[in-house]
Amino acid sequence: MIDFAIPAELAAERDRVRRFVIDKIVPYERDPRLTAHGPTDELRQELVELARAEKLLTVQAPEALGGRGLTHIEQAVIYEAAGWSTLGPVAMNCAAPDEGNMFLLSKVADPDQVQRYLVPVIAGHQRSVFAMTEPDGAGSDPAQLATAATFDGANFTINGRKWLITGANGAKTWIIMARLAANPHLPEGPTLFLADGDEPGIVIERTMNTMDRNYVAGHGVVRFDNLVLPREALLGEAGQALRYAQLRLAPARLTHCMRWLGAAERAQSIAVEHARTRTAFGKPIGEHEGVSFMLADNEIALHQCRLTIWHACWLMDNGEKARHESSIAKSFVSEELFKVADRCVQVLGGIGISDETVVEMIFRDMRAFRLYDGPTEVHKYAIGRKVLRG
Ligand SMILES: Cc1cc2nc3c(=O)[nH]c(=O)nc-3n(C[C@H](O)[C@H](O)[C@H](O)COP(=O)(O)OP(=O)(O)OC[C@H]3O[C@@H](n4cnc5c(N)ncnc54)[C@H](O)[C@@H]3O)c2cc1C
Repeated sequence: MIDFAIPAELAAERDRVRRFVIDKIVPYERDPRLTAHGPTDELRQELVELARAEKLLTVQAPEALGGRGLTHIEQAVIYEAAGWSTLGPVAMNCAAPDEGNMFLLSKVADPDQVQRYLVPVIAGHQRSVFAMTEPDGAGSDPAQLATAATFDGANFTINGRKWLITGANGAKTWIIMARLAANPHLPEGPTLFLADGDEPGIVIERTMNTMDRNYVAGHGVVRFDNLVLPREALLGEAGQALRYAQLRLAPARLTHCMRWLGAAERAQSIAVEHARTRTAFGKPIGEHEGVSFMLADNEIALHQCRLTIWHACWLMDNGEKARHESSIAKSFVSEELFKVADRCVQVLGGIGISDETVVEMIFRDMRAFRLYDGPTEVHKYAIGRKVLRG
């Protein structure tokens, strides 16, 4: 049965989240601790405590680990409300990369790893990173992975360089992708490792200056300099990193869509208000067809995006991997929402590019969404190949 109704309890929780974000979180958008390299850890911790007090922290986590074990559809509804402010998901501990990392660890980590690396992240006490992308190796094509790992039967040694690693500076739980060399003990190939951010072999060279600032601690350039890890650092099976990355990415792509949908709605609400009140040529600008059509295009896009997200969620809640549908959703939603944000800037006129409203920040932050978790072209490349296969 197809049912688009949101159950009353979920709708009430969505409204509670939206109120929490508007009343408690939005005021922090002008906090100086929201820096060019994202919210500082101090700001994050303050926001996390606000969500904890409202019992809104990490609600997506499995029930056995203290969360409410939200289904994908439930996440779609709650994350959209949280996304009203880019700080909402930070407060509620459902922002990237932690949210996707928690999902992956809850599926793949062994019980000791869960206690050491996952539980403190779920509790909001520490952050995590997923270190895959490299300047000269893995990117759109993770198979180009160049970071190298060796294994002597007792310890792994990892060497390589990564960049665009979100949250690197200050994160404790590290998920590292490296190519395990042939050895007599374990299968070779791309492999995931868990490490503590304090390991001396993890060197943060610098934090990159980027156009977005919604992710805690920004994006780092990182070097693994003879990083030595014990056998217990192996996450899942050796040689299976690309499979695990897919396991993480299909839902993680969708959660980006959910959060950005909330931000785009916020931008639209500001543009609508402006179109009602700002006048030009004798009437509110919203009464000029050129403006009302932009707002209508936004409304259409927001609706289409929500349905696309919900459909992929519904498939996953029914046990499907939904890789194809999540690819369709990621490419479609990222492109459409960016157009929504752009039209909102346009409706606002000159102030649209200023920080007089939050639309400028949403526009800037959202640009990167078309790149991470698979650039649009890479998703289209995969979708196109599937279409051609028939
Ligand atoms: C804000 C942000 C946060 C990020 N956080 C992380 C993180 O925490 N951890 C991490 O590991 N990585 C992270 N990344 C990296 C991200 O995953 C990569 O940027 C992405 O996978 C693309 O890789 P690349 O940047 O190396 O681009 P490239 O692989 O160099 O690709 C460049 C461009 O080539 C085009 N292209 C590539 N392949 C195809 C194709 N088959 N068909 C058509 N066109 C193609 C696309 O237009 C693409 O944008 C982040 C990136 C951003 C922007």
